[in-house]
Amino acid sequence: MAKAFENMELWWITGAQLLYGGETVQIVDGHSKEMVEGLNNGGIIPVKVVYKGTANSSNEVEAIMQAASNDPKCAGVITWMHTFSPAKMWIKGLQCLKKPLLHFHTQYNSQIPWESIDMDFMNLNQSAHGDIEFGHICSRMRVARKVVVGHWKSKEAQERIAVWARVAAAVADAHDVRCLMFGMNMNNVAVTDGDRVEFEQRLGYHVDYYPVSSLMEYFKKVEDADVEALVEEYRKLYTVKIDECGEQVYWEKVRNAAKAEIAIRRVLEDENTSANTTNFDDLGAADITAEDFCGFDQIPGLATQRLMAEGYGFGAEGDWKTACLQRSLWVMNQGFEKGCSFLEDYTLNFAEDCTSSLQSHMLEVCPLISSDKPKLEVHFLGIGIRKQQTARLVFTSKTGRGIKATIVDLGNRFRLITSEVECIEPKPMPKLPVASALWVPQPTFEIGAGAWILAGGTHHSAFSYDITAEYWEDFAEITGMEFIGIDKNTTISGFKQQLRNNEVYYMLNKALK
Ligand code: MN
Repeated sequence: MAKAFENMELWWITGAQLLYGGETVQIVDGHSKEMVEGLNNGGIIPVKVVYKGTANSSNEVEAIMQAASNDPKCAGVITWMHTFSPAKMWIKGLQCLKKPLLHFHTQYNSQIPWESIDMDFMNLNQSAHGDIEFGHICSRMRVARKVVVGHWKSKEAQERIAVWARVAAAVADAHDVRCLMFGMNMNNVAVTDGDRVEFEQRLGYHVDYYPVSSLMEYFKKVEDADVEALVEEYRKLYTVKIDECGEQVYWEKVRNAAKAEIAIRRVLEDENTSANTTNFDDLGAADITAEDFCGFDQIPGLATQRLMAEGYGFGAEGDWKTACLQRSLWVMNQGFEKGCSFLEDYTLNFAEDCTSSLQSHMLEVCPLISSDKPKLEVHFLGIGIRKQQTARLVFTSKTGRGIKATIVDLGNRFRLITSEVECIEPKPMPKLPVASALWVPQPTFEIGAGAWILAGGTHHSAFSYDITAEYWEDFAEITGMEFIGIDKNTTISGFKQQLRNNEVYYMLNKALK
């Protein structure tokens, strides 16, 4: 089980009532324990499910919902009605619940025992009845939740719960995410900006500015021995590839990149953060030729690549929204094989058979998505304040399906947009020594890219092979964001109508609150 989920719990509450007698509640209790054990032993749900007993009255429901809301270990609540559970007894509890809710419409026994079924059996096993009553009160109260339907032993049902469990864990994590901005957003860029107060209210992420001059104080203090040790680690992990810059410049630049990584890591640890942004125009003192120069001699892209793989969310050019989202994606993605990364739309390849879009960045792509052992290279980079020989990891991404996601601020709400893509093999690009992925948005490049633009999507995104739209839909549901998914069924006219409908919905929704 991945580390990120270790200290979290999902609370299982079984709805019942005392109408059928204490003995019935005892049977309900026994069945519930067996079901929770079954879920934990299934090996599919990555967060531990903890059985919290039956709730038989309004007071009991309220007490347990309050406890769930107050316990930092509790990432979410799963409810199930074994018998009938009159839903007015859930009103006060649902009012005070501050954690994600999953309503599991299941049943202890899988099939009706045709020969022996009698009135007692039917009264005991009536989740078809109780769950529908519970569902009504959730809808009546507009409670955000996920409804999973299926027998508790089935792989499919457990997989639906597992998706939500990963999302609930990411939402719990987001509450504690502090994102440090080394420098501000790049001048004039609209899409990377937004309302940071609303962002924290809704999603929990706290975004702070951190002076680059303070980062430089850390940089100055990095010891040579620590730099050498980190360079040794690079040698083990990556293929050393020395090209036109020559050996001397190569190792000098790699050592400086390692020094920058150590400084940034120390700041992130000391400041208790799990996401960060950089700005390639703000790297310390401006004049690199000055005698008392103190600054990064190159964009710290290698550091960013490696820190991203460790779970530090990243957004380039001050993009704090994507940095935070990338952190949450990394949490959800824990234990999956193919990886996730921050990416940027760069260059298009119009082709008769299939148009595609090259995803890259100046440097900052996460090596988790690499198809092979990354190469450590040093090349000239003519962007930003430095324009210097710069260290970086070079690789191409794995192929196969994936999904990109972003959050944009529309003024009256945040919109979470996803787009399904197919990563394909690029042709060799010997003169482009950066990490990259080549993808085709679904259902076609023209529809996928067109819909993304109509939705106001960013050129930055948080990308994963292992996550599906279901994760992001759950994430948006829990955090109260608009969700717009682009997939193989998207049509432009239908998509435009959805945008128009949502505009009205969110205007009214805001007015009602
Ligand atoms: Mn960018």
